[in-house]
Amino acid sequence: MTNVSIFPQLDIPQTIAAGPGPGNTDARVLARFAGAGLADHMHPDVLRGMVECKQMLREVMGTDNIHTYGVAGTGWSGLDVMFSAVMPGDSVVMFVNGTFSGIDGLTVRMKAATAEELAANPMDPQPASVTIINVPHGQSVTAEIVDKALATHKPKWAAMAHWETGSGRVNDIQGFSDACEAHGAMGLVDAVSSLGVENFRIDDYPGVHGWASCPQKGICCLPLTYAPVSFTDRYIDTLKQTGTRTFVHHPILEARHWGIIDGQDVATGTYHRTHSAYAVAAFHEALRITLQQTVAQRAKDYAFHEAALKEAVTAMGCDVTSNMTSLIVLNLPEDMAGREMELVQHCRAQNFGIWPTLSEPVQVRIGILNLLNEAAITDIVTRFGDAMRALGVTFDQADVTAALDRHYRRAIAAE
Ligand SMILES: *Cc1c(COP(=O)(O)O)cnc(C)c1O
Repeated sequence: MTNVSIFPQLDIPQTIAAGPGPGNTDARVLARFAGAGLADHMHPDVLRGMVECKQMLREVMGTDNIHTYGVAGTGWSGLDVMFSAVMPGDSVVMFVNGTFSGIDGLTVRMKAATAEELAANPMDPQPASVTIINVPHGQSVTAEIVDKALATHKPKWAAMAHWETGSGRVNDIQGFSDACEAHGAMGLVDAVSSLGVENFRIDDYPGVHGWASCPQKGICCLPLTYAPVSFTDRYIDTLKQTGTRTFVHHPILEARHWGIIDGQDVATGTYHRTHSAYAVAAFHEALRITLQQTVAQRAKDYAFHEAALKEAVTAMGCDVTSNMTSLIVLNLPEDMAGREMELVQHCRAQNFGIWPTLSEPVQVRIGILNLLNEAAITDIVTRFGDAMRALGVTFDQADVTAALDRHYRRAIAAE
């Protein structure tokens, strides 16, 4: 090889991460990431850090489940561990109302397909044992929808996203859990975008036996760290009977390094894979921050600031169709319809990182992960308004300013 070029050092700019994720990593998390020494994955302080993370994670998730820990990687890594209990031929009902639950549905179809079904359509298998219930984009999965489907199909597993980030919709977790209990299904939930944003305790939903989240949204720990997962004893017992065909993402084996062995907490973990001291230190700090701020307070802050952003863009003539609190999903004013991508690209070119929807229909998504203060929301509103104007939209800035003022002053008056 003669023409190998060494590229210049890679510089990546600081952007305003105003999308559905990743969220803005706290400076304290980055400081712990960069400040950790090089220590191997069996160093006592690394192992202690992992055990402490496990304990803090149980508090953040609101659970006594022994099998609660982090999976190295991203949200999909945690989801892959959770769905690994789904075996070929298993009956599953999966509720899909947007991009992410759609991918969860694909994962489930890959896991539940028999060898013949997988070979028949390797990238998009259609196993007979899986029922996908499609709920239109922009709508939530309701208790009635879940109950009806589970009553009809009586599956071994039922799966849903708690918050569908693709369309910005909150699905009915209580209704889902109740229906799972009523019809004997084991619930599996993608809580990637709700954990650390919404105030809930997973143990309050006894119909749900597996939960998976991610590092980079509500937990604010992008430096590739850990996707939180939690499994009930019933899930683990079921898995013990069937086994599963993965070593690294095996829910029981992956737990060992976190000090969970034979269903018990032990003082120090044993080797499963080479964990990074940097990642452990960052994740540890992110969990400390969450517990210091408290999940309840964060949930209040998200609801409060999301309402301000929603009022402001509504005053610009946009129509918000979402009901998540970390994100708004909106339709542009009618005369701008069809120009969503142009608007998003205009913003992104200025390192203002908003997003389109990733599946039809095309809408605009603006997120506020870890941007929970008046200055940050005002900055987002100002940038978004400037971009709208640059594309020729006219609106009355006084209405927008008044919406923000009303919202934030009303709040100060209420305190
Ligand atoms: C973001 C997201 C995912 C994927 O998470 P990654 O960290 O990108 O792997 C899955 N499900 C939902 C609901 C999400 O919001």
